[in-house]
Amino acid sequence: MSEFVNENLHGKLFLIVGPSGSGKGTVIKALEAKYPGFVFPISYTTRFAREGEEDGKVYHFVTRKKFEQMIKDGDFLEYAIVHSNNYYGTAKQEIVDALESGAVVIREVDIQGFHSIQKIIPKKNLTSIFMKVSDLNDLKGRILMRGALSDEELKRRLDSAAKELAQEGDCDYQVPNEWGKVKECVGAVDKIIIDEIKDLY
Ligand code: 5GP
Repeated sequence: MSEFVNENLHGKLFLIVGPSGSGKGTVIKALEAKYPGFVFPISYTTRFAREGEEDGKVYHFVTRKKFEQMIKDGDFLEYAIVHSNNYYGTAKQEIVDALESGAVVIREVDIQGFHSIQKIIPKKNLTSIFMKVSDLNDLKGRILMRGALSDEELKRRLDSAAKELAQEGDCDYQVPNEWGKVKECVGAVDKIIIDEIKDLY
């Protein structure tokens, strides 16, 4: 896809970008609690659900066959192979409908997803916020805290992290999320959102 999905969007899509373990999910959970009227779309992935992850909360966990059928059917706004092994994709219709109706939409994606969406959603309807982490060792600890991972999977995530961090400047905002400073990070993201949507309503 290389054309805008629609020139007549009224809402605003916030993309939360940043490496695995940078706290995107935590920030989004806090925003979800504060803003029940915003839209928080559920993405699709072919990775296995981690312990405690429920289907239909953050992701629909689907087979590779189903995901590839959805690609063929044009169901995705964007999709990417993340950490060199699994598909992740944002479903198109829910987001386009929400933006057409003037809603605020918040979704996390990897840097590839951001670059794809940047090509198809007009600038006035899109804000990207990158979660910065300055210490890769700290990041490694946070990734491991979410559950056991094979050495290979950990390496894949740290390799992706280095690549993502090198592109943080592509996003509109960079917000630090250091260990133990979640509240400050959520506050900073919230401030950006309030500022960016003040002309919407
Ligand atoms: P995790 O496996 O840790 O849940 O997610 C791995 C990476 O995939 C994270 O960087 C996350 O932001 C990203 N991701 C989650 N949903 C999507 C999506 O719909 N599209 C893309 N491109 N990346 C996603």
